[in-house]
Amino acid sequence: MSTIESVEVLLTNPGRNFVTVRITTSDGATGLGDATLNGRELAVASYLRDHVAPILIGHDPAAIEGTWQYLYRGAYWRRGPVTMASIAAVDMALWDIKGKVAGLPVYQLLGGAVRRGLLTYGHASGAEIPQIFDSIREHLDEGYRAVRVQTAVPGLGQVYGVSAAGASGSGRYDYEPARPGTRPTEEQWDTRAYMRHLPTVFEAVRGEFGPELPLLHDGHHRMTPNQAGQLGRALEPYDLFWLEDCTPAENQQSLRRVRDLTSQPLAIGEIFNSIWDYQTLITEQLIDYVRSAVTHTGGITHLKKIMDFASLYQIKSGFHGPTDISPVGQAAALHLGLAIHNFGIQEYMRHSDPTLEVFHTSYTFADGLLHPGDVPGLGVEYDDQAGDAHGYSPAYLPVNRLTDGTMHDW
Ligand SMILES: [Mg+2]
Repeated sequence: MSTIESVEVLLTNPGRNFVTVRITTSDGATGLGDATLNGRELAVASYLRDHVAPILIGHDPAAIEGTWQYLYRGAYWRRGPVTMASIAAVDMALWDIKGKVAGLPVYQLLGGAVRRGLLTYGHASGAEIPQIFDSIREHLDEGYRAVRVQTAVPGLGQVYGVSAAGASGSGRYDYEPARPGTRPTEEQWDTRAYMRHLPTVFEAVRGEFGPELPLLHDGHHRMTPNQAGQLGRALEPYDLFWLEDCTPAENQQSLRRVRDLTSQPLAIGEIFNSIWDYQTLITEQLIDYVRSAVTHTGGITHLKKIMDFASLYQIKSGFHGPTDISPVGQAAALHLGLAIHNFGIQEYMRHSDPTLEVFHTSYTFADGLLHPGDVPGLGVEYDDQAGDAHGYSPAYLPVNRLTDGTMHDW
């Protein structure tokens, strides 16, 4: 019987930090998994290196579900981003190995393709309306068929989702912030100013681009349920594809209030880790899209269970896919998205060239659709030489304060 012979933890920083697991079997097969937790990378690296790798040696690499349960139940301390990102990386690596051994892409092991490719959205943004229009046009020229729109807010400086270059002129928001440094940078926030301004932006965008283009927006956890309902209602004339993270959903019942106020489609879950975080949201149909990443939600095995549960309630996927998900995590999302019936849309920001020199990918983006490709396994290879050229360096997501200095959700 083939056994797990080594579990390596690879840290690299080709412009941003990535944590990757590589499992090698006694037969010489290798598999990759993404364990990147933006801003807290070393905690996951230690969890894997010090507590997971030693206990997996000698295990059967084909026993994916059993290994998942061994790491989840066996830790005694369940859930949480560090634990679930660690389990996710091992899970992805074992699916990668299973595919390579079978000579099949992972989506074939999950039941096969349900569609030709995955509808994808990109990130448009700008300080002023003309820059937002330019940014949307850039995305349409690249082939995107759906676009997220984020805007600066009058009176505030740098805010979430708008490129620093865009604040001073044109420029594309093509990164998820990972600001190098030993402390987080600080941003400023005023929810009422944001709520007054945003509908004027969507009115202008709809006026310019017409009724067909799917438009998305991310509220990034900043509103109360009442505010979220008010904003959702104000945006209804502009027919959004979704309003994302309109309020922090740690209290799942709070989404009942939002639903009472607006019929706006809602997407939530990029900071969730397990099926339990979705229980009320799904069974009461309080959301329309599951935003989890394979990387932060226990891997393909666990996110597939969440999506099967969600399918009973007509809730679809909208998997998290900014550039702090490594190409390995992104590939895992594409294989899962291709194989589930209740796929909705996939977030996609192209990784930087230095990142793609470390991670050699085989997924494709054409006519606005992503496809994971047909290479056996996940279809991503890790270049050790390129990876070793960039060591870990500290970087943090920003923090966010109200204008009087009170800490707010970023
Ligand atoms: Mg988001």
